[in-house]
Amino acid sequence: MTITTLAVRSTVSGPNSGIRHAEWVAFVVLAVASTLHLECARGIERRREMAANTSPHTNLKCLWIFAALLLLPLSLVIPLVVLAYTYSWFRVYGRTVAHRKVFSTSTYILASAAAAAVLRAGGLLDAPRVPTSFWTLLVVLAAAATWWLVNYALVIGAILLSSPDATARDALGELSDQLVVCAGLGLGVAIAAVQTSYPWVVPVLMVTVLALHRDLLLPQYQRAAGVDDKTGLATSSYWASAVPAELARADTLRSTVGLLMLDLDKFKEINDTYGHPAGDEALRAVGESIRAEVRHGDLVARVGGDELAVLLPGAFESEVLEIAERIRARLVDLTVTVSTADGGTAKLDGVPASFGAAVYPDVATTMDQLVLAADDALLTAKRSGRNQIVSARPNPPAVIDRSEESEHHSDTSVNDGH
Ligand code: GH3
Ligand code: MG
Repeated sequence: MTITTLAVRSTVSGPNSGIRHAEWVAFVVLAVASTLHLECARGIERRREMAANTSPHTNLKCLWIFAALLLLPLSLVIPLVVLAYTYSWFRVYGRTVAHRKVFSTSTYILASAAAAAVLRAGGLLDAPRVPTSFWTLLVVLAAAATWWLVNYALVIGAILLSSPDATARDALGELSDQLVVCAGLGLGVAIAAVQTSYPWVVPVLMVTVLALHRDLLLPQYQRAAGVDDKTGLATSSYWASAVPAELARADTLRSTVGLLMLDLDKFKEINDTYGHPAGDEALRAVGESIRAEVRHGDLVARVGGDELAVLLPGAFESEVLEIAERIRARLVDLTVTVSTADGGTAKLDGVPASFGAAVYPDVATTMDQLVLAADDALLTAKRSGRNQIVSARPNPPAVIDRSEESEHHSDTSVNDGH
């Protein structure tokens, strides 16, 4: 080492910090690049975060952190994590979710500490810890796997603890979300290698990262764009685009698609009695109840103010009616504690709804006809006294109700159908 480098080392790092000049440079490069990345992907990230709800929210931030793990000592990786999350908190997510961001920062730090331990145990003590042989490749892959596992396990644990209603399936999230993390870790290794040998290629790689971010996250972005802010259900525009695809799939598979349209009964009274925010809370609780009664592949959407739609791919009429009855009964039993206009709370005992059911292709052969048939059936349910299910028929709809009169109607219509 020359006298000049020694001098630089002692002035820049201080005699005892143990951080080399090259490491400070790498820290600044990674801090600037990750900030630029976050800023450019702000819009897309904000929407994805909103959609994550009770599933793990993954992003490409880990690419800078993993590159840092390979290039910097842990004492500089931690400030980089804190910087990235603080910046996100101010610029991307908004300041309302501080506790979640503090938690995410902690999981990133713990995952990084675990990965650093794996790198050390594998003999990769000095930076740059990029793979240069089969063994070092294995060590870096093991560190990446450790990083992913620790982060994922902590996030799932937190979701299950903080949202008792979340199912294990919700908490695990989508495979594509985890692939985003894998892509991030892989890109992190590439950034670290390029920054070590060809630092001026890093800005070029930035273009790749930003372009990939847009493309890689497009499916999730689309999912996010189709989420209703108030209930977390699909929006009516997302729903309208998903239905034709499901009908086409049913054609290919010679299968069926069940459709339930439901409208809350006398919902306006909740607004009038307790205020609009109370109505919103009831609406959200209804959305959660319905989601809890259907399978993962079923689509629940808010298609109007208090009108919801449930698409049940592969369901026959009997199953559609069974599911509708489960939802109906659950909504009747649903208790929601809502905030009232005077600052207090009130308990709603039941938020009943009326249902119209229709099955493709039994009842209709186009989406418009199917929706119309389910809507007509819903109207009949409202007119017949609400809190009941009416199934659409190719012939006029029949009331499926627990009263004797409606059983009579139902039988008649089944007979008519024959
Ligand atoms: P019905 O049994 O005939 O359906 O009676 P209803 O009072 O539910 O009447 P309708 O479905 O025609 O009206 C829906 C009401 O839902 C009107 C509006 O006050 C309320 N609403 C619509 N969107 C929202 C919303 O986003 N939040 C709240 N709190 N209320 C809404
Ligand atoms: Mg209504």
